[in-house]
Amino acid sequence: MTKDIVLLGSTGSIGVQTLEVCELHGIRPLVLTAGKNTALLERQARKYRPDAVCVAEESLYNDIKTRLSDTDIKVSAGRAALCEAAARKCDTVVNAIVGVAGLYPTIAALSAGNTLALANKESLVAGGELVMGLSRESGRLIPIDSEHSAIFQCLQGRADNKINKILLTASGGPFYGYSYDMLKKVTAEQALKHPTWNMGRKITLDSATLMNKGFELIEAVWLFDTPWDKVEIIVHRQSILHSAVEFEDGSIIAQLGAADMRVPIQYALTYPKRYKTPGESFSLLNRQLTFERPDESVFLCLAAAKKAISRGGTACALLNGAAEAAGELFFEGKIPFYRIGELVMETIDNAGFSDTVDLDTIELADRTAREYVRLNAV
Ligand code: NAD
Ligand code: MG
Repeated sequence: MTKDIVLLGSTGSIGVQTLEVCELHGIRPLVLTAGKNTALLERQARKYRPDAVCVAEESLYNDIKTRLSDTDIKVSAGRAALCEAAARKCDTVVNAIVGVAGLYPTIAALSAGNTLALANKESLVAGGELVMGLSRESGRLIPIDSEHSAIFQCLQGRADNKINKILLTASGGPFYGYSYDMLKKVTAEQALKHPTWNMGRKITLDSATLMNKGFELIEAVWLFDTPWDKVEIIVHRQSILHSAVEFEDGSIIAQLGAADMRVPIQYALTYPKRYKTPGESFSLLNRQLTFERPDESVFLCLAAAKKAISRGGTACALLNGAAEAAGELFFEGKIPFYRIGELVMETIDNAGFSDTVDLDTIELADRTAREYVRLNAV
């Protein structure tokens, strides 16, 4: 079992829940990092006493340095420092950063030969080929995303048996069953209310557009080396069955349980062992489980994700950049909800991308997508 971790993104939804799991099992956080939230980072540092903390935003160096000046906790700031933290020798690096900013520390952690428990799906969306190459050569990758943790669990004991397909479940989000016309009238407040999971702001929005499910399809393609058309997305409103694998003989192996992210976080840190649940016990009695197809003509982000992964190259980095940029414009009140899907699709259809995948071409695709979205937003 993991005894110490470097926790990237400790102040976010996954970061905070990771610290709860650490407390339960006496796992020591050696380093805690945050994007900008120095107030919470300071509180966490005082409570968990890591050797070091790091803020991604360089201009906040003095802020965090002053806050912790009465302690012997080392302080650093900026992307290079974040990558240095990810490369530090430890049992597991947990990457709970949001957005493509998480790609750099993912690369740093794996290159250093560390085991990486990955919540930051954008690493795999934008840089899947690169990241999986590194995980084959050096560091090991364990998924935290609940669906991928479920699939990972379903594949334990697989031997060399062939799989027919991966069944990736989706809650359907707050706009399940909506027509395109209905989508045109939704408010920001409605978009930020997820029916079953309590998460950070970006992933909550991505869940409402189903961009999150598109990202997860791409994540599954890379993690489980499966063609994109063998990943079937099924809407399962209850979020009880967290995903499944159908084998060649037609048997479907699934993982079910409470919708509590601390369960997959704990599994990533204690794998292959299982420990007592960090949350409430869960019963299947009197539950109804339903499964349906999502509507890609309403949720354009899903169709765009399939288009991007089928094209290959840096098309998925374009997808990720477009979704992040359109999401930011939505949060700023500059575009309505339904435009997010349109802009993501337009970017995939019109912006240039490269067949060669390396960090330079990924960064170029990310910039190209953001630029395209800004210029075509209104
Ligand atoms: P969040 O917004 O709550 O937290 C994000 C963390 O990243 C914070 O600590 C923040 O300070 C840090 N951060 C933000 N920008 C940064 C930057 N530029 N550089 C470095 N650090 C930065 O997000 P979250 O909901 O915890 O999600 C984190 C990741 O986990 C995302 O990739 C998300 O898709 C994935 N995920 C989340 C959930 C969930 O339940 N929240 C479930 C599955 C997967
Ligand atoms: Mg998920």
